[in-house]
Amino acid sequence: MESFSLAAEQLSPSLVAEIREKTTGPVLVPGDDTFNEVRKVWNGMVDRKPALIIRCQTVNDVITGVNAARKNHLQVAIRGGGHNVTGNAVCDGGIMIDLSLLKKVQVDPEQMTAKAQTGATWGDFDKATQVYGLATTGGLISTTGIAGLTLGGGVGWLVRHHGMSCDNLISAEVVTATGELVTASTTENPDLFWGLRGAGGNFGVVTSLTYRLHPVSQVFGGMILYPRTEAQKVIRHFREFMATAPDELTLYAALLHSPNGQPVVGIMGCHSGDVSTGESVLKPIREFGSPLLDTFSEQPYLQMQTMLDGPFPHGNRYYWKSGFLDELSDEAIDTIIQQAETVPSPLTPIIFELYGGKAAEEPEGGTSYPHRMNQFDLVVISNWVTPEDDEKNISWTRALWEAVQPYTSNRVYVNALGIEGEQRVREAYGKNYNRLQEIKKKYDPENLFCLNQNIQPGS
Ligand SMILES: Cc1cc2nc3c(=O)[nH]c(=O)nc-3n(C[C@H](O)[C@H](O)[C@H](O)COP(=O)(O)OP(=O)(O)OC[C@H]3O[C@@H](n4cnc5c(N)ncnc54)[C@H](O)[C@@H]3O)c2cc1C
Repeated sequence: MESFSLAAEQLSPSLVAEIREKTTGPVLVPGDDTFNEVRKVWNGMVDRKPALIIRCQTVNDVITGVNAARKNHLQVAIRGGGHNVTGNAVCDGGIMIDLSLLKKVQVDPEQMTAKAQTGATWGDFDKATQVYGLATTGGLISTTGIAGLTLGGGVGWLVRHHGMSCDNLISAEVVTATGELVTASTTENPDLFWGLRGAGGNFGVVTSLTYRLHPVSQVFGGMILYPRTEAQKVIRHFREFMATAPDELTLYAALLHSPNGQPVVGIMGCHSGDVSTGESVLKPIREFGSPLLDTFSEQPYLQMQTMLDGPFPHGNRYYWKSGFLDELSDEAIDTIIQQAETVPSPLTPIIFELYGGKAAEEPEGGTSYPHRMNQFDLVVISNWVTPEDDEKNISWTRALWEAVQPYTSNRVYVNALGIEGEQRVREAYGKNYNRLQEIKKKYDPENLFCLNQNIQPGS
């Protein structure tokens, strides 16, 4: 098998010239004016320098990048929105295929579909579809890329009502390792289509995604905060409330700090069905205890989709741990609250997410995304500003993770996985791993696309 892991720091001038001649978009090498800006990703801990960046403006630019990488045995990184915590969107040496200039979103309001280029963010996508009062399940933060999120599964405020982002995919266009542009759908290359819906960074560069849309415009959503001293009661109530909550409602709980630095516990979410029904459904949550703040109200979906943009800025330093809990037991809640007391950074939230609903209707194995059960997903997003604080934030996150081990399952959402070794990658793909290996062998037998939560081609 060829190795694409050895990355040349510098490419020969003739290869750079050849790539420039064949591409339309800017081609950057170290020293070029915008090189240092374009190589940055969301996680400020990541500081990698590709030998060359292609800022793709056409699908041909993508094909040129893939062919150049394959023929010259260069590592290749694919950048959608650049949000993945691993920083896999950028490589040290090798070629970075930057899709962020390919952002067109075409909506067909009659068919209720949208075809989007894969440099689009959820902000770009939602703005285009909301013109027609339509939406599909997308991420909570408007600057996250549609591509990385959808290809790993995709959860957000509509997940319980309309399923995961990948469940709403109708088709994808993909440049494979051989530089061929193919379509994947239930009727064309169905094996590839299955693989893309959960393990999508592994098989090629996806250049467009076509989604099914749903009528969504005004929603009932917001956030409610209580003093941290109420955490145990609030999280237990949240757990019991969600056991019978309707699918139109997606709600998360979190241990966090308010903007003025006070430790709080919060409940946040969105009811995307009838607005007045949403208001009455949420009464037991809003009438519980004595909140410090309650922002739940009728609001445009676009407002809901930017509610949390502020706390996760580009360039801060991030370290994540995440996994599904077997059960959100009283002991698990108490352990997590106790660990939260020593958090070194007030910017760090510990989030309890619950999907289920429509997302749980897809049978296990229906898509390559495997974790369809109705379980709480614990997501710890350590977030701080200066390199001097790296050690204490990372150690705290690891200690918390150690403490919650008795309650975690061996299941993890691939999009929330850091660089955590092969066993965790297998846990992300679960029972689907072997089938994914066969698809990998067919579409990328030499593992050109290895900078991801990597599936080893089947032998
Ligand atoms: C602040 C924040 C909030 C988040 N919120 C949510 C959320 O609400 N719901 C949720 O489900 N996830 C969420 N995530 C996780 C998110 O889904 C992943 O980080 C995802 O990988 C980001 O996609 P991207 O395109 O922005 O990332 P990138 O870093 O650009 O891409 C990540 C990886 O995806 C693959 N990839 C990207 N584009 C392509 C392509 N066109 N073709 C093939 N492979 C590609 C590559 O392997 C790449 O390394 C969040 C992340 C952050 C940082």
